[in-house]
Amino acid sequence: MEKQKEVDKIISNARKSIGKFCIEECNAYCCRKGYILINERQLNLLVEEKEQIELKKENKLKELSFSGKFMLDFSNYLGGCPKLKGTKCSIHSSLERPKVCQEFPIFLLGNNLRISSKCPAHQKNMFFPFIKQLEGLGCELTED
Ligand code: SF4
Ligand code: SF4
Repeated sequence: MEKQKEVDKIISNARKSIGKFCIEECNAYCCRKGYILINERQLNLLVEEKEQIELKKENKLKELSFSGKFMLDFSNYLGGCPKLKGTKCSIHSSLERPKVCQEFPIFLLGNNLRISSKCPAHQKNMFFPFIKQLEGLGCELTED
């Protein structure tokens, strides 16, 4: 298999490997804490108009100057991302789901591998076998 395809496959397997843990143990921490940067199309996918009004009033939804992006703070009256239902993403299989949601917590830029230190699965070293495989293919892990 061509190297890039092999790398992509390992990363995809690593993300899939924690699916049960995300829902049953972590309880979707990454959809409840912190914030997300999204464009207008993604904003309209994630947040209904009525919710946008409330979130703006609460100062948890802000348009960032010049970038055309919006910052949605998850510490809001909804308790996180509006698309989070219980501990599951209700738009998980949508192709429109923001790229950062599809990639989190593993990001690859060139050969540079970054895994969010905030992710409990990473804190528990659950990606160890995948990291070893990726390092064998020349990727370098950078701690954030
Ligand atoms: S923070 Fe990590 S373990 Fe928790 S739901 Fe997100 S990806 Fe899964
Ligand atoms: S769109 Fe889904 S994966 Fe992304 S933050 Fe919201 S609930 Fe989480």
